[in-house]
Amino acid sequence: MNDRPQFIVDQNIGKLTKLLRLLGYDTKFFTGETDAQLVEIAQKESRNLLTRDTHILERRAITSGRVKALLLGSGTIENQIRQVVSDLHLDNFQPFTICLEDNRPLIARAREEVKNRVPIYVWKTQPEYVECPECHRIYWKGTHWGAMTLRLEKLTQYIQKELKWNFKDDTSN
Ligand SMILES: [Zn+2]
Repeated sequence: MNDRPQFIVDQNIGKLTKLLRLLGYDTKFFTGETDAQLVEIAQKESRNLLTRDTHILERRAITSGRVKALLLGSGTIENQIRQVVSDLHLDNFQPFTICLEDNRPLIARAREEVKNRVPIYVWKTQPEYVECPECHRIYWKGTHWGAMTLRLEKLTQYIQKELKWNFKDDTSN
């Protein structure tokens, strides 16, 4: 499990954070102040650094190869996530395994366990649930993922159709 790539996302492309978590990758959003701090965290925690800032790529830790960094192009967030997936050859997506808000691994919950914790219409129709041990959000494979779900669907379709990669999980409803 721990050979899964992990990421740290620079502030200029913060929206990628949730998308990568959605795909099941441990992803930190950089909240520090300097490029040096960003690179240091990436090195210490063996995270792939994602940025749009060309100057960061000139730092020694990156030019020497100690830190793996990817410079993302402009364009939509969908284009950027496609770039990450294709440049880093990501091929093992595990949706519903990481909390979108705080990056913690989600824990499977039996339907009975969430009975009084989710809306009744959800409970009646959704068989599978996961819970975040940190914020205690409960996720299920329905509209709860809101706008992210739509994005994931588009992305999933693209990835499955164009790149012929499979999700471990069936995310279609
Ligand atoms: Zn959480």
